[in-house]
Amino acid sequence: MAFVLYACALTVATHWPQLDIGTETQPAPDKLLHLFAFGGLAFLLIQTRWLRRIWMAGILAVMWTLLDEITQALPVLGRQSSVTDILAGELGVALVVTWAWALGSIGGVANRTRLAQQHFLLAELFRQPRTWIIVASAALLGALITGGSIALAMKFVFTRYGGEQLTKILVAAMVGALAGTQVSLAGLLSRVAAGRVKQRPCFGCGASCSAVQFDSAGRGRCPQCDVSLQLGQWAEPMQLPLSAAARGVVPAVAFAGGMLIAGAVTLLVLLRLSRQFAWANDLIRTWHDFPPDMQTAVDLTAIALIAALAVRIYRRRQARLHDRQHLNCRACEHDLQGTPITQGVGVCPECGAPFVRFAK
Ligand SMILES: [Zn+2]
Ligand SMILES: [Zn+2]
Repeated sequence: MAFVLYACALTVATHWPQLDIGTETQPAPDKLLHLFAFGGLAFLLIQTRWLRRIWMAGILAVMWTLLDEITQALPVLGRQSSVTDILAGELGVALVVTWAWALGSIGGVANRTRLAQQHFLLAELFRQPRTWIIVASAALLGALITGGSIALAMKFVFTRYGGEQLTKILVAAMVGALAGTQVSLAGLLSRVAAGRVKQRPCFGCGASCSAVQFDSAGRGRCPQCDVSLQLGQWAEPMQLPLSAAARGVVPAVAFAGGMLIAGAVTLLVLLRLSRQFAWANDLIRTWHDFPPDMQTAVDLTAIALIAALAVRIYRRRQARLHDRQHLNCRACEHDLQGTPITQGVGVCPECGAPFVRFAK
């Protein structure tokens, strides 16, 4: 429903004759609006799950954006469409699709079960109005802190203030809002998780599975929705030590740092080449001719794409940690081969951390 309403509203808004947002002196950050508007469309389209794969939804959103911008150029409407408008919209789509992939399901059965548990607990949390209030307040607080400090820094350090600065403040506020959301959700989750998991809910339908019989490998079935269960699936959540949680951070940060350095080197090479070659010069001139908000949109997308890949690298490392939990202890890396396992569940003899061997 949200997708259909949003799609209708967006189509009307983008085709409204001679609509002009902003004023002469303070033009609206039009390109960023395009980026967020069509990114929002892609986000809601993915949420509908009408298309089985994320990339399929991505292709549809790309086509939609293209069509929307082309039809805006119809002379009757008195609106303008430009290549940069289309580019900004498509950047938004690319951003959302990449992040949906980066945060999507990953790893083998052990890690996927852990993620299913997380999704189940989150869904339960968001059924309570309290959660919405707490998360929204945390997001607002985060936005005020980051947006406010950037605004103050600009006012007192750079003593400049204009449309371009406003965009930067908005971007900073959004990052703060995301951080606030993340922190508040992590807090809420860790508070409810342990207690709720002890009641052995089915992660598929929520039915209680405390009366289910499990075979010698720890396999069982949900009495209500018949999904296959593993006795150890309720052994989570265990608190991984910081060293284990941080194991994926090093490669992720190394990747992000490497990409930023590669970007800087490319830029330097391009500047050097522009003295001799016309094409390099043209490329740099094209960039300078972009409106400032389009430059911000490109910068923002590049950074967000690198961040998405880094997140995916981190999550892949963590997935491996959980998928191999019956071979190497997640907490202390102790070799667990040969450790006794009953009904798929065992305990590390070195540190006492529980582990699960998921049956095939
Ligand atoms: Zn079930
Ligand atoms: Zn251990």
